[in-house]
Amino acid sequence: MHHTTSPESAPESPAVPADDPRAAAAADELEARAPSANAAVPNSEGLRLLAVHAHPDDESSKGAAMMAAYADAGAEVMVVTVTGGEAGSLLNPAAAEVPQCHRDLTGVRRLEMAEAAQALGVQHVWLGFLDSGLPEGDPPPPLPFGSYASLPLELASAPLVRLIRRFRPHVVTCYDESGGYPHPDHIMSHKTTLEAYHASGDPAKYPDSGEPWQPQKLYYDRAFNPGRFRALHEALVAAGIHSPFGERLARWDSDERPDWLTHHEVTTQVPVGDYLEARDAALRAHRTQVEPDGFFFATPNDFLREVWPYDDFVLADSKVETSIPENDLFSGLRGNA
Ligand SMILES: [Zn+2]
Repeated sequence: MHHTTSPESAPESPAVPADDPRAAAAADELEARAPSANAAVPNSEGLRLLAVHAHPDDESSKGAAMMAAYADAGAEVMVVTVTGGEAGSLLNPAAAEVPQCHRDLTGVRRLEMAEAAQALGVQHVWLGFLDSGLPEGDPPPPLPFGSYASLPLELASAPLVRLIRRFRPHVVTCYDESGGYPHPDHIMSHKTTLEAYHASGDPAKYPDSGEPWQPQKLYYDRAFNPGRFRALHEALVAAGIHSPFGERLARWDSDERPDWLTHHEVTTQVPVGDYLEARDAALRAHRTQVEPDGFFFATPNDFLREVWPYDDFVLADSKVETSIPENDLFSGLRGNA
């Protein structure tokens, strides 16, 4: 997260009491999802996946282990970062002591992004739009002139259409209609990805942006899956480890449930247990944005491998037949498999 303030990052304490029926439900769910010891994504040579993200660092906090897993399995995986993250702040006190981070934060973030892409084994492309920033205040101030989220949909979508027609992905991932986080660039990247996903195969649309190519599946990232946080919370409490998720879960269960937390059911859980360290390395590469001992590292990887060794996704559209639940984003696209 590159934002100056995060309503979801306060330190927290346990909240759901053990005798709560939700706790029992979570335990049942946990049992039903017990992973097999050697779960892994299948060989994926010849398949391509495009992940659309709003800012540098979003790719490392949402679906990063999934991308590392598919890249390692032979797929071509490309991250496209829509904006340069110019409006980001220095969120790591250690980085605030480095003069270059003040002189040229955008430049530093480009280097961080390159390091993260290398850690995940993915290709990376910038679309070059201007970060809209997170408007704060009531009412919020207008978006900066020319910023990504202020642009007309077609203008903001055309470069993504061109990229899809050039890279020819079978699968595209993005955020859901809430942005997954209430930032104007996240919401705009959802809109442009939908527009590009549906238009790229149509020769009548964006005729100057390359040969038509229709991606076959569209997924929404579900990094903020309440079921996942609940399972991790219950397991941490049961193991006597401090859980950072309690207050968040209580809020999500209450009337204060934030309206950006959509109700999409997870359809697809990609096994990523072997790629959590790659995800950590990618996150740590964004050292201006991520504290090395911060929220994202609150749950030990060995614990994640036992309790929730998945990245979670919602199938939003499919041109091929597939059956839900899935454990593979390319399911239905693997010949006769
Ligand atoms: Zn972002």
